[in-house]
Amino acid sequence: MNKNFAIAIHGGAGTILRSQMTAEKEKVYTTALESCLQVGLRILQSGGSSLDAVEATIIELENCPFFNAGKGSVFTNDGKHEMDASIMNGANLDAGAVAMVQRIKNPITLARSVMEKTEHVFLCGEGAEKFARSINAAFVDDKYFFDQLRYDQWQQVKDTGITQLDHVDEKKFGTVGCVAIDMHGNLAAGTSTGGMTNKRYGRVGDTPMIGAGTYANNKTCAVSCTGHGEYFIKAVVAYDVACLMEYKNLSLHDACNIVVNEKLKTIGGEGGLIAIDKNGNIELSFNSDGMYRAHAKSDGVIKVEIYK
Ligand code: ASP
Repeated sequence: MNKNFAIAIHGGAGTILRSQMTAEKEKVYTTALESCLQVGLRILQSGGSSLDAVEATIIELENCPFFNAGKGSVFTNDGKHEMDASIMNGANLDAGAVAMVQRIKNPITLARSVMEKTEHVFLCGEGAEKFARSINAAFVDDKYFFDQLRYDQWQQVKDTGITQLDHVDEKKFGTVGCVAIDMHGNLAAGTSTGGMTNKRYGRVGDTPMIGAGTYANNKTCAVSCTGHGEYFIKAVVAYDVACLMEYKNLSLHDACNIVVNEKLKTIGGEGGLIAIDKNGNIELSFNSDGMYRAHAKSDGVIKVEIYK
């Protein structure tokens, strides 16, 4: 057994500038990131699986109103909240995902149920909700997702054709994600989001797409992404990091650097990712001004960062 476990989370990337942040707001985010990370860390410390740590940590992030996932999800063009999530087990490549689900309290748990309780990988919309009812998943009222800031953001663009990433002025992406390796050397990754403000026509981003927004394989690494989803889909970001390691023998650091700072940047994709390799190395890469992020290794020391 390898005692070297590790965990990392993100709460979105984008134009997050120190100059635009108040001390109070900074404190709110750093405290939230730290307490969410602690949930997963405790599971790993007590010998739990990376899959359990990833799910439990993302549940905390989804329940926190400051991030664009679960409770804090942005408004669609119809004034609804449509959420996407995915999870992957690096030990056996099992994966589960949901897209366009409404009124589901914790989409990450539903994604895990798709993985464990169906023969499928990806369920969406009404069908995913039907499945959720069949397993008695927790539903909440639409009001649960109401947030004045998100509502105001939506009001500003609702009658335009504009689809907006999370925050109008700061251009930040508030999706959440978690990657972990446990004492047994198993990797897992998960990602959850409300998508883009004012999204229409059943738009789905990279978050629930295995290989784009989320990927885990014990042979290489676990990855969770955040950023402008369309570009992350085109660049198949999460899987590309794993491929560069597997086929080109690159280190996690070099693979993440090539994908985030070269390949994504070349096509105009802004955002970042968190990743852990099979040896417990952690990478937190982004090509935007900032990324809400936190991580810890077996020594239990938690580091929280926001800016470059
Ligand atoms: N990647 C997400 C999406 O495009 C957005 C984000 O990361 O905040 O739906």
